[in-house]
Parts: sequence; C-alpha cells; structure tokens
Amino acid sequence: MSEMNLLLMGPPGAGKGTQAQFLVKRYGIPQIATGDILREAVASGSPLGVEAKRIMARGDLVPDEVMIPIVEDRLGREDCGPGFVLDGFPRTPPQARALDAMLERLGRQPLRAVVLLVPERELLKRILSRGEGRADDNEQTVRKRLEVYQQETRPVVEHYRAALVEVDGTGSIEEIGERVVSALEAT
Ligand code: AMP
Repeated sequence: MSEMNLLLMGPPGAGKGTQAQFLVKRYGIPQIATGDILREAVASGSPLGVEAKRIMARGDLVPDEVMIPIVEDRLGREDCGPGFVLDGFPRTPPQARALDAMLERLGRQPLRAVVLLVPERELLKRILSRGEGRADDNEQTVRKRLEVYQQETRPVVEHYRAALVEVDGTGSIEEIGERVVSALEAT
C-alpha cells in the first residue's frame, strides 16, 4: 500500500488542526503539529519552551534550525511508517527544502499537499472566536501571524505547487473533510 504522506497548509485559522484530526481518524496516521509540540514545550518549561514562548507570543516564527531537527526526529519514529499529516510545518522555504531532503534520506514516497482556502476576513473572525485560550490568539498577535504567513509561508505553497490540491475551507468541518478526502482520493 502506498504511504499517506500529507502536508496540510493554509493560513492561521484555516482549520488545519481540525482537518488534520479528521485525516488521523480516516487514514490511521499520526498528526505532526509543530505548534502543538511547541505549546507542550512551553507548558513543560523545557529549554525549547523557554526559547519559543516569547517568539510565539509575538506571532513570529521559531528559527528554522530549531524546528527542522524536531520534525526530523518525529518523522523517523515508527508510527510514521504508513504516513503522517504535517500541520504547521514547513512554514519557510528552508524548512521545505530540509523536509524534502529528510524524506529522501528516509526513503519515503512523495508528499501530497492540501491547502485550505479561506477568505482573509473570515480568518481573523474565526481565530478570535475559537476560545481555545491560546496566548497568541489576541488580535495584535493574530494580525502579525497572518502577515508572517503571507511573507514567509506563501512561498512554501508555491514550492509544493506540483503536488498541491486546493480545497475550499469554508463550511462545516464534515463538508471540508469530505472535500479534502475526495481531493486526495482523486489524485
Ligand atoms: P500553530 O499552532 O501552527 O498556529 O503555531 C503556533 C506558533 O508556533 C506559530 O505562530 C509560531 O510562532 C510557532 N510555530 C509553529 N510551527 C512552526 C514552524 N514550522 N516554524 C516556526 N515556528 C512555528
């Protein structure tokens, strides 16, 4: 059987985490959410957490040289054998190039990328009303995160253009999930 090596992309508030969980259940693959990994580090007060906390609170990106080894370590674990869904990584072109190189080293099949499309005005509204209690879900930080997405992460979408399916990210969680699955199964 072929591997389900998935990338879930889209701006903050597009629903990546929610759809990643849908794919976890559907395909029995683990979710690798770098934001969750960082939030756990912050909660545990580890050196990584201490470093990441201020950066995340500003809405900036944690440096590539910190993020890349975290993902490489996670992808090398056994539960990623049948595939994985990456959520929130890669966020910069160097992260994308590093990911391609590590998958090649690990002898993995090609990635498939899904980008969730949600109108800009909807994103801010969604995040400010989601009430997850995230320290970076205040208006000032969200505006910065959206700006960082446009500047740093949009080029990553272009990087994966050939492997990409675009999915309308508006509607109910189930509707979006079905769109994602049919897009993946049609290609
Ligand atoms: P997320 O939960 O994906 O929205 O990520 C929350 C925050 O964690 C981001 O605003 C960044 O500060 C940091 N972060 C998560 N993933 C990455 C990554 N791949 N590269 C750099 N910073 C990241």
